[in-house]
Amino acid sequence: MTTTVIIGGSFAGMTAALEIKRKGKDQHKVILIDKSPLFLFIPSLIWVPFGRRDIKDISFKKEGILTKKGIDFVNEEATKIDATAQIVYTDKGEYHYDNLVIATGPKVKYDIAPGVEEFSHYVGTPNGAMKIRTALQEFKKNPGPIVIGATQNAGCMGAAYEFLFNIEKWLREENIRKKVDLYWITPEDYLGHFGIDGMPMGESMLKGFMKMFNIHYRTEVGVKEVQKNKVILTNDEELPSDFTMLMPPFIGVDLVTNSPDLHATPAGYIPVGDDYRHRDYKNIWAAGIAVDVKLPFTPKSVPFGSPKTGYPSDETGKIVAENIIRVAKGQAQLIKKEWGRIPGLCIMDAGKKEVIIFSTSLFKPRTFAIMIPNIIFDFNKVILEKYFLWKSKNGYAFLP
Ligand SMILES: Cc1cc2nc3c(=O)[nH]c(=O)nc-3n(C[C@H](O)[C@H](O)[C@H](O)COP(=O)(O)OP(=O)(O)OC[C@H]3O[C@@H](n4cnc5c(N)ncnc54)[C@H](O)[C@@H]3O)c2cc1C
Repeated sequence: MTTTVIIGGSFAGMTAALEIKRKGKDQHKVILIDKSPLFLFIPSLIWVPFGRRDIKDISFKKEGILTKKGIDFVNEEATKIDATAQIVYTDKGEYHYDNLVIATGPKVKYDIAPGVEEFSHYVGTPNGAMKIRTALQEFKKNPGPIVIGATQNAGCMGAAYEFLFNIEKWLREENIRKKVDLYWITPEDYLGHFGIDGMPMGESMLKGFMKMFNIHYRTEVGVKEVQKNKVILTNDEELPSDFTMLMPPFIGVDLVTNSPDLHATPAGYIPVGDDYRHRDYKNIWAAGIAVDVKLPFTPKSVPFGSPKTGYPSDETGKIVAENIIRVAKGQAQLIKKEWGRIPGLCIMDAGKKEVIIFSTSLFKPRTFAIMIPNIIFDFNKVILEKYFLWKSKNGYAFLP
């Protein structure tokens, strides 16, 4: 019997756990450690501030399905890894492993600039999304300028664009749009770069949206400081703001930075090959955001990163599971798929409108890439949410 410990039970980790158990059956013991008891469909957090979703609508307790599938769920925080002794330490106990999968996602680097944590909002956590809901109720009593965007080094610009178009729609629904100067700020070289060097028609489509919705924008800017009523950009321009939402950069979680054995990159990501196996340890694997991905482009003047989205996170969870099974069977040939060659599949919500983004690979060169706008309703995004929650609740990780 091989024991695999997986740290992190979200898009990447839950997929890996379910797939190892499905394929390995009684030959594989799987222990999933996660500090959160909930599986959360993070992409729908952008709807929480506007009351379109509550956290309970987009999350469920994961222990039930994991136990049903024969996986041991440990609701603890992993604090350190000893790669030589093959032990994961948690705040309550320790777990020995034959294989270890690191699927811990990101830590948000709020200290990227002074005032970001104190004076701007972040939509990417349940708490952050709920705080925005409360703040917007106050804001609408006395509307003023708004700044939405991403800071220097950020990689998850797509979610910030989604929030921008959702808040614009909310302002119109609240009949206060005319009282609000809405600004978009981004480190990207051009609108719609998205950290993947753009998509055909992407820049012109986003320019069209900005014009149609009367949104002022600044590209190639970082944030020098956020204050209570303004955002100071790296080019020293000051934008007045009574409500600010920013996407800071992601870095590796404390567990990784506190475990020097892991030889993580300076940003806290795990160095793996195209088989998602650690470059220095044959029995350590990584999936999802925890993976170190080399930037496929050079930013012009302000640094920014690449997004690590849900589809490749799920996909790398599957690859890791298959490779662990193969190694246990003594097979030498492993599945290899470079992160940037995984197909790109994403739906960007544009405030009850949407843009479907598909490409044969995440990074260039791509054989085929397309952005399809749907201005009638964001039903594909809604269907994706329902499908993913259904698939996860039932443990059907083998599905796409
Ligand atoms: C606001 C927002 C919107 C997004 N929208 C989209 C979208 O529309 N489409 C898309 O494809 N992607 C989207 N993404 C990205 C998507 O959410 C990520 O790609 C995905 O969540 C990555 O999965 P993961 O499993 O690697 O990490 P995560 O989902 O971050 O999960 C990491 C897990 O590890 C656990 N963990 C961390 N550290 C420890 C520890 N020390 N001990 C125990 N457990 C630990 C956490 O509790 C968590 O459950 C969005 C992201 C954000 C923030």
